[in-house]
Amino acid sequence: MSFQNPVFIPGPTNMPEAIRQACYMPTIDHRSPVFGKILHPCLDGVRRILKSESAKIFIFPSTGTGGWETALTNTLSPGDKVLAARNGMFSHRWIDMCQRHQLDVQIVETPWGEGLPADKYEEALKADKSHSIKVVLATHNETATGVKSDIAAVRRALDAAKHPAMLFVDGVSSIGSMDFRMDDWGVDIAVTGSQKGFMLPAGLAIVGFSDKAMKAIDTATLPRTFFDIRDMAKGYANNAYPYTPPVGLLNGLKLSIELIEAEGLDNVLARHTRIATGVRRAVDAWGLKLCAASPELYSDSVSAICTPKGFDATDIVTVAARDYGMAFGVGLGEVAGKVFRIGHLGSLTDAMMLSGLGVAEMVMVDLGLDIKLGSGVAAAQNFYRRDNAQKKAAAE
Ligand SMILES: *Cc1c(COP(=O)(O)O)cnc(C)c1O
Repeated sequence: MSFQNPVFIPGPTNMPEAIRQACYMPTIDHRSPVFGKILHPCLDGVRRILKSESAKIFIFPSTGTGGWETALTNTLSPGDKVLAARNGMFSHRWIDMCQRHQLDVQIVETPWGEGLPADKYEEALKADKSHSIKVVLATHNETATGVKSDIAAVRRALDAAKHPAMLFVDGVSSIGSMDFRMDDWGVDIAVTGSQKGFMLPAGLAIVGFSDKAMKAIDTATLPRTFFDIRDMAKGYANNAYPYTPPVGLLNGLKLSIELIEAEGLDNVLARHTRIATGVRRAVDAWGLKLCAASPELYSDSVSAICTPKGFDATDIVTVAARDYGMAFGVGLGEVAGKVFRIGHLGSLTDAMMLSGLGVAEMVMVDLGLDIKLGSGVAAAQNFYRRDNAQKKAAAE
């Protein structure tokens, strides 16, 4: 027998059965109009999910990390200056990638648990009179700490400084599950992957380029081959890739977009907020705190939960897997051992979430934490019931 529980890691996320089936398909000619019927709906659908009218979409066989590299290598040259805040493991890794590509990163160190400091971005941009900063990096949702940042505020910082730098946003754990507005926020490159909000296996880097980012390629001299968007664009014009595309994954992406749009993107986002709110009620009932420093920073796709001093939060993840066959996320980097993470994005219902909270409770009691069985589950149940009742009343 297979006893597969849902996963509560912040990606890869649970896959709806229909998406799994869509990925599993016979071989087709990947340089043919048949492939074009899979590819082009994906490109158009991703553009709609990014809330952009005109972004150029590129989908590489890769992961979110490859999306970061696509953004950097197609637009920048060695020695170019990049402004970035470091407030968690993912923003750290993007900075590390910049440095390995010989970019000059001006780092705004930010406590883990805080959001991107738009005011410090503004200060740095105003001080950069010669406009040597070419790009501002922003991690929309820091998956390591469960912190959502205000990208509109970063755009306002750029505008207030009248600075022409481009804005690149890592939306790997927000796009498709949290409000993301490429055009409204003036995002020049948006980066995501297939295995989070899109509910697919890992294997695709998904990026959107603004017109300004598309122009930057003319002067960018960082080496690129596999991730060259010019080769990709030429391929797309002929219903093809410059190499062999992962047809099954793209077919899955096409269905994923159809499912998201059938539910309604806004409804999908509201479902994420609702499920996340239930999790936060549970954390509260357990007497624990989130790593995110204040409510406006709370992520709707992942909660990083602090455990008491002297307790190793990683034990929760180990025991949950060993004794209950359930997956939660460990703390990364600076918060390793201090937090465990509950991923709550993608294909998830209230009932699935309650199972995750129930197991988390059992594990914490097993490990001797002072938590009452059922307390978090009841808090979430109460929230979900009340929210349902309110929705019903509103519909009448
Ligand atoms: C998961 C994640 C990544 C890395 O994506 P991979 O697909 O693992 O390469 C980057 N940024 C954020 C915010 C993420 O959550």
